Amino acid sequence: MAEQSLVLAPLPWQREQWSLVQSLLERERLAHGLLLHGTAGVGKGQLARLLALRLLCESPRHGLPCGECHACSMFAAGSHPDFFLASAAYGTSEDDDDGKSRKGRKTATTSRQIRIDCIRDLIHFSHQAAHQGGRRVAIIEPAEWLNRNAQNALLKTLEEPGAGLFIILVSHEPSRLLATTRSRCQALLCPTPERLDALEWLRHHVAVDRAESALAFCHGAPLKALAAVHDDLDLLHREVMLTLEACRQDEVTYLFAAEQLARHDAAMVFDWWYGLLHRLCCARPAAALLHFTDQLLEARRKALGTANPNTRLLLESLLIDWAQLPA
Ligand SMILES: [Zn+2]
Repeated sequence: MAEQSLVLAPLPWQREQWSLVQSLLERERLAHGLLLHGTAGVGKGQLARLLALRLLCESPRHGLPCGECHACSMFAAGSHPDFFLASAAYGTSEDDDDGKSRKGRKTATTSRQIRIDCIRDLIHFSHQAAHQGGRRVAIIEPAEWLNRNAQNALLKTLEEPGAGLFIILVSHEPSRLLATTRSRCQALLCPTPERLDALEWLRHHVAVDRAESALAFCHGAPLKALAAVHDDLDLLHREVMLTLEACRQDEVTYLFAAEQLARHDAAMVFDWWYGLLHRLCCARPAAALLHFTDQLLEARRKALGTANPNTRLLLESLLIDWAQLPA
């Protein structure tokens, strides 16, 4: 598993959830199967790692991991033997020293599935005694990428986890989990912060103007907005919005606009366009806008759901109608 920076405190908007977890832990009422859910990019993964570290840390202070003990150091190095991370990236690069394949998260987006061999290894991990004599923790992220077989394989482990084992499922689409999986977990909603709270946090990391625009198109999710700024997606978003606006105002041809839009990731362009339509519909609902939204979603489905889509043609067709929408 890759090295990771330690999370030693909850994000400001997660303090309430952290207090609840702390209180359950102190009373030995924390479930051994947990489901952290909420919008993508609000910090569920961070909270899961903080909790994992809290459970593994040898000398927590005021209910938080110390960041200095042997367990914390091993966790930071990605080598804690009592921690297991199940993600789509599992098993996608070189094996580590003990022969288990555990990987960093960079390649996770190449496959939208957590494979069954990963879950088999997790089940094997669940049967082992803790190396450090204490607790063991597994994080499954994102849990909705477990297919039905993988979830069924996990059920028994969720129902009867070994001594000291905690399994934390992280999901922004918990409805995609089997009801039997959900019912075996204690659910904890990770909230989306108020806009001003999110901006206050973001301004410690990025310039205020970029934070504001990124937060807007990331639907208020601060970590998603931060990642977007780091990847310059906020600048790209602005470019796409300007192209759409110019086409609608007849300042550029639909052919030129399609050429510009086709340079970018199709899923991203369709999602941003959909976001713009949503804002327009909220500001002034109109039948033509709603009809066009249907067209956009249909084009998106074709572009993303077929093997060799002609995305350029789909964009051109959409832009012709887009330019004729009433102002
Ligand atoms: Zn520690």
